[in-house]
Amino acid sequence: MNRYALITGASRGIGRAIAVELAKDGCHVIINYKSNHEAAQETLRLVREAGSEGELLPFDVSKPDEINAALDGWFAAHPDDYIDILVNNAGIVDDELMLWMTSEQWHSVIDVNLNGFFYCARRVLEGMFENRHGRIVNISSIAGQMGFAGQVHYAAAKAGLIGSTKSLAVEVATRNITVNAICPGTIDTDMKQQGIDKNEHLRIEIPMHRLGKPEEVAYLVSFLCSAKADYISGQVIGINGGAL
Ligand code: NAP
Repeated sequence: MNRYALITGASRGIGRAIAVELAKDGCHVIINYKSNHEAAQETLRLVREAGSEGELLPFDVSKPDEINAALDGWFAAHPDDYIDILVNNAGIVDDELMLWMTSEQWHSVIDVNLNGFFYCARRVLEGMFENRHGRIVNISSIAGQMGFAGQVHYAAAKAGLIGSTKSLAVEVATRNITVNAICPGTIDTDMKQQGIDKNEHLRIEIPMHRLGKPEEVAYLVSFLCSAKADYISGQVIGINGGAL
């Protein structure tokens, strides 16, 4: 039986690295993304190169109707399957000092980074419950653990993910479903390229004096989704070059 892994925001960056790593582990990878079809196709190519199968499932994680329509379609096409691994990775930044932050900026960052987790996890939990097995990994951030100027909304979302991780882990523990959060530091992706100049001080403050690689986050996701991590749940694990 195939083990299906849904990774949100898997067209680029950390999500793509997770898709490839879980493909190496033998999972059938469901590659979610918002709009970058070309990049998602490249992830699919890499998943196949890694020796597994995959499929594209675009939807906006901040829109519950889109999520439900996409997943209804997926479940209808896979009546005997369920999604055993959900990695809530899709995220955006939109840095702005709170003094000038608009309500739209606040809501859009919370919608993608936090509400997206709620909509997606709620939709796949039933299958995990029925099959008495599941893995949920939430990609939070070091920004949810310490303060950065311009990220009041992003920090609220990422800290919210940590709280949700802990509570959901308790709710589902007896069903062999684990829920964990990963807090990356500064990882070398498109997201970081956007703010790399103004965040140069971050790199200097990283004890290892380098940015993290997306693969280094993916190795941890792979471990958390493996049988070796059966007894690890409700945890918040940093991966930040010693920065915190
Ligand atoms: P990235 O390179 O900017 O990639 C973002 C991914 O999320 C893309 O696949 C994008 O899809 C997708 N996405 C964005 N909005 C979406 C939406 N509304 N619905 C569905 N997919 C959406 O980001 P990254 O650096 O890999 O970050 C991945 C995660 O790690 C995020 O949650 C981020 O907050 C977290 N993180 C990153 C860092 C870092 O330093 N990079 C540090 C800590 C935490 P499209 O290609 O279609 O746009």
